[in-house]
Amino acid sequence: MVDDSARPVILWFRRDLRLEDNPALNAAAATGRPLLPLFILDEMGEGRALGAASAWWLDKSLRALDAALRTRGGRLVLRRGDSEAELRRLIDQTGADQVFMNRRFEPDAFTCDVDIAHALRHDGVECHGFNASLLTRPGSVVTGAEKPYKVFTPFMKALLQAMPDRPPAPAPQVVFTPSDPASDDIDDWGLHPTAPDWSGGFDWSPGEAGAASALAAFLENGLKDYAAGRDVPGRQGTSRLSSHLHWGEIGPRRAVQAARQAAAQGRVAPAQADKFVAEIGWREFSAHLLHQFPYITDRAFRPEFDAMPWRADPVALAAWKQGRTGYPLVDAGMRELWATGWMHNRVRMVVASFLVKHLLIDWREGEAWFWDTLVDADLASNVQNWQWVAGSGADAAPYFRIFNPVIQGQKFDADGRYVRRWVPELRALSDRWIHAPWTAPAAVLAEAGVRLGKTYPRPIVDHAEARQRALDALKTLAGRS
Ligand code: FAD
Repeated sequence: MVDDSARPVILWFRRDLRLEDNPALNAAAATGRPLLPLFILDEMGEGRALGAASAWWLDKSLRALDAALRTRGGRLVLRRGDSEAELRRLIDQTGADQVFMNRRFEPDAFTCDVDIAHALRHDGVECHGFNASLLTRPGSVVTGAEKPYKVFTPFMKALLQAMPDRPPAPAPQVVFTPSDPASDDIDDWGLHPTAPDWSGGFDWSPGEAGAASALAAFLENGLKDYAAGRDVPGRQGTSRLSSHLHWGEIGPRRAVQAARQAAAQGRVAPAQADKFVAEIGWREFSAHLLHQFPYITDRAFRPEFDAMPWRADPVALAAWKQGRTGYPLVDAGMRELWATGWMHNRVRMVVASFLVKHLLIDWREGEAWFWDTLVDADLASNVQNWQWVAGSGADAAPYFRIFNPVIQGQKFDADGRYVRRWVPELRALSDRWIHAPWTAPAAVLAEAGVRLGKTYPRPIVDHAEARQRALDALKTLAGRS
């Protein structure tokens, strides 16, 4: 006869790679049973294959989680394959009879989790699902008519009211299972790039401790001037928490609470903390939208935009990806992305607008490139933001508002610091010319060592012509909505 209290319970980690403020871990610990921490690399069950930069991050984050578990006497069991099959194998091997997990809310991943929970329950294994990644569960913040919000401001207002006000829970004391089931070796998963290793410029510290340090640094330096500082790409004015939030190395509740506490203690003005909380609110809005409108990963939220006459232009697309468009702010952003796996939000908006409007290339091309290259690639945030820029999303920027990349540069990178860092071939140009080198007199270019078309490209499109082409394309949609 098996003593049930000795049976382990499985803590199935997914995108909640932390020990603090982890509801599934807390509930598993509360059973008093020995814990078996597990991570399954299930490429098919994710809904979409991991991008290369995300794989880089996951590799380090899992190592950090395993190290943290080992300091407490446990370890992370790694398995690769179909999630349900791997869970069943582990259950057979260890006699575990309960699974604790924090849910993912992207439609495919959500359905996959629900199916697994049903199947295991059918065979007598209880599955307990929690929410560790969002302030509120998608579907729980709805209008008075019980419909999803499609506009951010009322959503945010309702979110603030619905959001539970309890502080994040500390990591609990747990007992780990003495059983020693087989685990994959993470080195064999090949998540870190080789031949070539393009990650030399990835200056990140994945894991829960890295997330805590990023938050602490932001509270100390960035939050006090966040509302204005967040728009200046040449400064470190934002939290850089996005990948940590994506992988659940920190929960949004913790980030919100820390910002509010800084305001309550008078360390920052309340308006600064509110602005930061609103950005976390955009993350939340994105997740709720995707959960409620699953088609938006592939199709326009506003269906009339599916008829947009996008251009196929592989040469321009390649120039955009490589940061060779001839527009310095766009090129700086795309090079920052390639070198570091991250790009400043202001510049993300500019490069995305350039692709969908100046080049008239389908937003899905840009979304796919970001998905592969961003360390913070997040299905909901990526799709929502691309559609926001493309004008086809919920509460989107109107399509006819077309960013001028030169003016954006002059306004948000007035001292040229960002462009000089990422487009060093323009470094010697003065602030006056750095955002539009083709307008500089020949002598100025010569003195700065810039030879247009040789050391730095001429613009691949003329702003005024490209703008007009985009507006003409928009006109073809008239009457379709
Ligand atoms: P902070 O300014 O410190 O913001 C704090 C947190 O709020 C961020 O970590 C993030 O979780 C959230 N946040 C901030 N702005 C947004 C936003 N516009 N939408 C949703 N959440 C937001 N963010 C991702 O996390 N993953 C993506 O794949 C992603 N793709 C994007 C694609 C485009 C075209 C654009 C314009 C934006 C995209 N963003 C994405 C949103 C935003 O650019 C990043 O979240 C932000 O730059 C991350 O830096 P940070 O952590 O320093 O941000």
